[in-house]
Amino acid sequence: MSTPNPEEAEGFVTAITPQSQDFSRWYLDTVRKAELADYSPVKGFMVIRPYGYAIWELIQRQLDDRFKASGHVNAYFPLLIPESLLLKEAEHVEGFAPQVAWVTKGGTEDLDEKLIIRPTSETIIGVMYQKWVQSWRDLPVLINQWANVVRWEKVTRPFLRTTEFLWQEGHTAHETAEEAQEETLKILALYKEFCENVLAMPVVDGQKSESEKFAGASKTYSIEALMGDGRALQAGTSHNLGQNFAKAFDIQFQGRDKAMQHAWTTSWGVSTRLIGGVIMTHGDDSGLILPPRVAPTQVVIVPIPRGNWKETVLPTCQAIRDQLVAAGLRVKLDDDDSNTPGWKFSEYEMRGVPLRLEIGPKDIEKKSVFAARRDTRAKQSIPMDGLASAVTALLDEIQAGLLARARQFREEHTSRAATWAEFTALMEGRPGFVIAPWCGEAKCEAEIKTETQATIRNIPFGSAAPSGETCVHCDAPATAFAWFAKAY
Ligand SMILES: [Zn+2]
Repeated sequence: MSTPNPEEAEGFVTAITPQSQDFSRWYLDTVRKAELADYSPVKGFMVIRPYGYAIWELIQRQLDDRFKASGHVNAYFPLLIPESLLLKEAEHVEGFAPQVAWVTKGGTEDLDEKLIIRPTSETIIGVMYQKWVQSWRDLPVLINQWANVVRWEKVTRPFLRTTEFLWQEGHTAHETAEEAQEETLKILALYKEFCENVLAMPVVDGQKSESEKFAGASKTYSIEALMGDGRALQAGTSHNLGQNFAKAFDIQFQGRDKAMQHAWTTSWGVSTRLIGGVIMTHGDDSGLILPPRVAPTQVVIVPIPRGNWKETVLPTCQAIRDQLVAAGLRVKLDDDDSNTPGWKFSEYEMRGVPLRLEIGPKDIEKKSVFAARRDTRAKQSIPMDGLASAVTALLDEIQAGLLARARQFREEHTSRAATWAEFTALMEGRPGFVIAPWCGEAKCEAEIKTETQATIRNIPFGSAAPSGETCVHCDAPATAFAWFAKAY
């Protein structure tokens, strides 16, 4: 009789399933083993563990800096929203009602009016803007909120789809339609720049089809990334709400011509889903690969314990750590002697630390350190003299390399289909983006989804207009080249 491995018996992950074997399993194993998140006692809700939260904090800080630099300010609105507010915008209620969590009691007493836990905050913010906006001089209002929201989900997956998630939601009000449209696109561009330069995650920016639009929006724009398994991930959205919410919530102001008019509003958001995007864009069979700009630890120093290393090697490691920290880097020195260097190498690889420095007696003799990159696994010796600037340059190189690699992957997994036979063959075979001419009809779009599971991710800015092409599915005249994919 064999004794069960105690770890397996308790359901702990002992190894990461290879991506080629089961990408979804690989993802869950990586999240669990790298201690990014854990399941909670409430079904569908996750606990973000410190390592995962540290990534979120880096995302949050760098995004927040960008919002502030573009003139936005932060505020905070209530978690609970009266039912009557949700009902005010017809399309909005239809879109969100199936996912709403309700609060019906306060203590032991039934509430006079049921409350919902915010699935998003257009409604409660609309009520406040109605009070705050009186004159064209009060505009624009450029407010962002960092918050949690709840959307009741049947099937959940850590970071990608959870019942509660963390996000930011920007809500702006403007004097003219043009300004609202400009804001909507400005934020989408900001998201794209952030995803590419910070997360090293290339995205396709464009407009959503009518049926994929946000409930209550005039126009929705998105950025779409391609994950390692060839599925698309909607990484962020920006909505031009037109005057829909302003009319529903009576956000009116006296214009420059003294006439009363409704404001033009926008809303936009990205969430903890971005962490899922980072994991699935860059990770490999050994686990996470983190871009340096969102890596909680950018450099790990592993001393090689030979002889009386605590007297000979360790002080040099400490001095190097201090020098790198002083240069603004996030550095960890792992001097725990209960683990071998080999164990540490695979542990920090699994956790996606971009750069490992190994320092032993021989390195000290040669006045150099041995560096191993996580992304390419390339190894090189770096002189201790000028180490901080060499390491900083190397991290920049890793950051740029990850973006280039992800771009190349996307290019290799983007195809064109002119006929339905080509389209279905592509969707059954090698996944990725498929660019195809489309008629613009919601019914046709729905049929494509039913038959292939593929959805229109967006119609990218600058796409060529069809000239005589017919729809890939129904043969009606095409109105656009849409980017299709199976998506998370
Ligand atoms: Zn069609």
